[in-house]
Amino acid sequence: MVQRLQCCLRLSSLPTLHFHSFVPSSTKVQDQGFFYNTSRDFRSHPRPLTNILPIGKKQVGRMNVFTQQLNPITGKLEWGVQPEDYDYKQEVARSAYADMLHDQERNDKYYEGLRRAVAQLKAGGQEVRVLDIGTGTGLLSMMAVSCGADVVTACEAFHPMAECARKGLKQNGFEDKVKLVPKRSTELEVGPGKDLEQRANLLVAELLDTELIGEGAIDTYRHARDNLLTEDALLVPSEGTVYAQVVSSEMLQRWNRISPVKDHTNGSQQVLLDVPSVVARCHGAAAVHDLQLSQVPRHWLTPLSQPLPVFRFDWSGRKAEELPYDRTTRTTFLPLSSGQCDAVLMWWEVKMDQEGDVNLSCAPYWAHPDLAHKGWKGSSEEIPWRDHWMQAVYYLPQVRSVTHHTPVSLLSCHDEYSLWFNIQKDDSELVNTERPVCECGVHIVNSRTRLGQLNDPRRIEVYTRVLRSLVTPDSVILALGDGCLMAIMAAKLGARHVYLTEGSEANRRVAQQFIVTNDVQHKVTILPQDVSDTLLSQLVAPVTIAFSEPFFSTSLLPWHSLYCWYMRNSCIHLMDSSATRIPSSVTIWGLPVAYRDLWKIRSPLHQCNGFKMDIFDKLIESASEEADERVEPHPLWEYPTRAKSQPIQLLTLDLTTTIPEAPISKEGTMALTTEGLVNGMALWADWHLTDQDQDVITTGPISPVVLDQNVEWDTYSRQGVYLFRQPININKDLPSTLQYSITFQPLDGMLNFEFGIEVKGREEG
Ligand code: SAH
Ligand code: ZN
Repeated sequence: MVQRLQCCLRLSSLPTLHFHSFVPSSTKVQDQGFFYNTSRDFRSHPRPLTNILPIGKKQVGRMNVFTQQLNPITGKLEWGVQPEDYDYKQEVARSAYADMLHDQERNDKYYEGLRRAVAQLKAGGQEVRVLDIGTGTGLLSMMAVSCGADVVTACEAFHPMAECARKGLKQNGFEDKVKLVPKRSTELEVGPGKDLEQRANLLVAELLDTELIGEGAIDTYRHARDNLLTEDALLVPSEGTVYAQVVSSEMLQRWNRISPVKDHTNGSQQVLLDVPSVVARCHGAAAVHDLQLSQVPRHWLTPLSQPLPVFRFDWSGRKAEELPYDRTTRTTFLPLSSGQCDAVLMWWEVKMDQEGDVNLSCAPYWAHPDLAHKGWKGSSEEIPWRDHWMQAVYYLPQVRSVTHHTPVSLLSCHDEYSLWFNIQKDDSELVNTERPVCECGVHIVNSRTRLGQLNDPRRIEVYTRVLRSLVTPDSVILALGDGCLMAIMAAKLGARHVYLTEGSEANRRVAQQFIVTNDVQHKVTILPQDVSDTLLSQLVAPVTIAFSEPFFSTSLLPWHSLYCWYMRNSCIHLMDSSATRIPSSVTIWGLPVAYRDLWKIRSPLHQCNGFKMDIFDKLIESASEEADERVEPHPLWEYPTRAKSQPIQLLTLDLTTTIPEAPISKEGTMALTTEGLVNGMALWADWHLTDQDQDVITTGPISPVVLDQNVEWDTYSRQGVYLFRQPININKDLPSTLQYSITFQPLDGMLNFEFGIEVKGREEG
């Protein structure tokens, strides 16, 4: 959310911050033929979240539309009225645009690249004619003019951004110096009186994403070379290099492969849940796993190769072999140790000038060229933070073991939009270089986060302990959730019968494979997700245990899994009157925090490199207000977050009862005494499987919270992130108090949070 800077604001009268929490949004969304990177929330979801996108739309009046959305808590489809431009505003609000513009290194290096290119052309006596493809706010065009370019043409395919650029250029006094064409570059026409009078001799563009080419840079550059540029045109950036590093990492594999569940309690290593061979053999999801590699603990990774440059992209396309739509390269390396190749880490570097003196690297700190002398002794704080470009992990289609110092080759492949890798042990080995596709279904129905949960030893330990203690030969279990493999395990642990509810055909197919592999066909039955029509007479006996992990593929925020309560409510007719309910309660927690970097994704720019950005700030702000939610899901283990108090228990709901009708609220205060900045709240849910303290599945901190220290977050959930519109500086002479109130409205499945901070005796902020 964009903050409005309120000068002379009385902190004691800080507006009460208010938000609702539901309505998830999209992943990479295609618009007008190409992709906008939307916020981190839904990145690398291996499937489109079509089930939770607005799925219906109809016009109401001139300005508004009804959109139909799935409420993830109640599971109901709901119509809501939204302004007509809602879709694109949500697009803008969730895009990484603001974060990209906050990236000072990026901005500075573009500026420097432009300065050098303009000077070089001028030195050669040429008129400088710049084309800026995808101008966004107009920033790079304004830079080009300021560097002395003679003619600048900017194009922008996304109309709301083109409109923003038009206003921004005007506000900065560049409306006569930059010709703005609201078109995709491939639609531009060259010739007298057309979009470009003549071909440009300098192309500036920022069309790169975490995968470098995922936004369609190859085609845009090739088209520009053939149609829009002079033969000797200079480009900013001029080149890109992709680096790949082969690693062994059991921790990363947790996001990719389901491992069998073994019983560690009695040393027998008995397999409690086996994995079908088709799942074990599967090449996995093709989707890139983008993450903040600098936050990955060192002990997760055993490097098997150095970072290897595997692709060079000459954006000018003059060396045709360096800008093909697809290719495979082979890089031979001597493994640094013996081990299993699990994954390839990837990042890229671009040359912003023509010589290679001004480079921008997206490497994690331990491989960053600026920290080369430090390696792992460096820290993520020593390199620029950015969220619009991260690093990526590619899982290898098969785990291959390599031997220390025995050469092997990394095969690196790309097509027009994506990358993938494989290992070749010797030259004669035939290796598949097709893009990997999931053949087992597991990688299609599960997000990476969910795969991580299914492999998480903490979760598995709690589930097995609880199920082992409750399951008897008379147990009839009703499992409410998506991909509830733990319930299949319950059948193996000796339950009389297990009923699984699965929402989709794909989920049912995956569950069926696990049922057969674990040889429990005779005692596991798959029911449709909506069991309200199922008759008691269809079951072997009334349900004695209603069990949820709880997880639903529609859950984005931790408390969305409250859906299990609603599902349970709809199948009371199937339950024994004394049936055990797992989980038995949920506690929603809140923690005032200082986000080291994450605050930037929603904070106003005011200016970039001296160019005013208020128009853009306003666009983001209004987009956020109309389209966005105040709480966003983020995997906080990737974003250093310092605790500014102890966690606050905001609300506990007893899930063993039927759902009440009246709202449930709680409010309170918490003194903030730790000095320094507080810029938001981190929110999560603890699911109490039983009333025993240790039987908790947390989506929050996994070690005790220490004041003013970074929190250690569960790696396999996303937490709710709430950013204050105005950060507050806590000073021990001015005691501050956090006021909070939380309301759960059972009828419409809404959780409303309100936060305010009061600073005593202070008049202004
Ligand atoms: N140049 C701006 C914005 C970069 S974001 C800056 O550096 O700050 C990339 C922008 O390019 C997006 O606004 C996207 O809509 C636009 N874009 C991508 N491909 C394009 C193309 N082929 N033609 C026109 N615009 C394009
Ligand atoms: Zn698969």
